[in-house]
Amino acid sequence: MNDEIVSQDLQYIWHPCTQMKDHETLPLIPIKSAKGVYLHDFEGNSYIDAVSSWWVNLFGHSNPKINARVKEQIDNLEHVILAGFTHKPAIDLAARLVALTPEPIQKLFFADNGSSAVEVSLKMSYHYFLNNGRKRPLFLSLTNSYHGETIGALSVGDVDLYKKIYEPLLIRSIQTPVPTDQSIESAKVALAALEKIFEEKAEEISAFILEPLIQGAGGMHMYHPEYLRGARELTQHYDVHLIADEIMTGFGRSGTMFAFEQAGIVPDFICLSKGLTGGYLPLSVVLTTDDVYRAFYCDYNEHKAFLHSHSYTGNPLACSAALATLDIFESENVIESNRAKSGYIAQKLQIFEELPNVKSVRQTGMVAAVELKGYDPALRMGLKIYRYGLEKGVLLRPLGNVVYFMPPYTITFEEIDTVMDTAYEAIRSLD
Ligand SMILES: *Cc1c(COP(=O)(O)O)cnc(C)c1O
Repeated sequence: MNDEIVSQDLQYIWHPCTQMKDHETLPLIPIKSAKGVYLHDFEGNSYIDAVSSWWVNLFGHSNPKINARVKEQIDNLEHVILAGFTHKPAIDLAARLVALTPEPIQKLFFADNGSSAVEVSLKMSYHYFLNNGRKRPLFLSLTNSYHGETIGALSVGDVDLYKKIYEPLLIRSIQTPVPTDQSIESAKVALAALEKIFEEKAEEISAFILEPLIQGAGGMHMYHPEYLRGARELTQHYDVHLIADEIMTGFGRSGTMFAFEQAGIVPDFICLSKGLTGGYLPLSVVLTTDDVYRAFYCDYNEHKAFLHSHSYTGNPLACSAALATLDIFESENVIESNRAKSGYIAQKLQIFEELPNVKSVRQTGMVAAVELKGYDPALRMGLKIYRYGLEKGVLLRPLGNVVYFMPPYTITFEEIDTVMDTAYEAIRSLD
């Protein structure tokens, strides 16, 4: 059954982030249905979704509360243009997200995927300065950062694997070193480097964009909140916007609702997507301040308004999934109950440190990572671990030499055992 579906697939579909020739030897896995943390294929095999289907799923697949909300919405309004028109799910969602973020954040702009949210924040920031009579065509970001793969988002990222080929096509950005680890000392060293860049170039820079506390696609690299605190202070001092790309870290992943909360700061822009709809539908938002909003607000003048849109901007079905997701956060005290789970993950993580081929382990909230000692990338150790996991019924998808855990929050302690014991055996059996 699986084989037949796979050959149909390979006849037509070009898969994301994939060397398609790999599928001559690596079988695709057709999924028939999913429930909770389990993915089910057509031959009766199940896999625990330990990567939350690329970091989007929060409360399990086919969640009854989200299902019900989307079903209800689909009979009323599936979509409507958001220019000149509006609808309740968009308004309710915007109001609730503004209420969830700190007081200076007052406005919300809709887009429909993470990269687009990043594009929106970059364009808004540049345009803000332009509307205020200043031209600042440069962006600053962290080394090892990832902000998506459209041209603008790719330009402010710093993962060679995705970026290098397209270098000649990119917009202008420079990188400042990310703290080397989670210590406060490395945060201070990196802040000194940041200050130096601002001393030389602040006048040219619209915004400093970063992934707060956890660099996801850059190998689950983590740093201390002190860096965020210091970066906010410097951006304020040098009058540069701070964009918090919380596309992966948002909605409880980092242990708090938003990662920037752990530094007690307020960014100028917050980009959200991934977990926003509980992993159901594509949607993203950019939240910003009244100050930014007001810089665009004037009698019609085609140069001053923010003339940016996407066809599915603020889709009602996606907004209703997001509203159901926020309901679950409220009614089930999710951030608090995740603490027990992340504590348990921390405990289980310790035994990995004793493995001879493990370089380091790290964790922030509901994200944990085990970094292997420098295997040659050509050995594709991650692929071996991926295969091992599938045999044991666990979907692990290492990033190079980094094996990570980012499960739906509904995972049980027993399922955490299965996932982490499988990863442990997979790493132990490498040679
Ligand atoms: C996934 C991700 C993006 C891009 O989102 P897409 O929806 O995949 O375009 C941007 N920034 C971060 C931090 C991400 O993890």
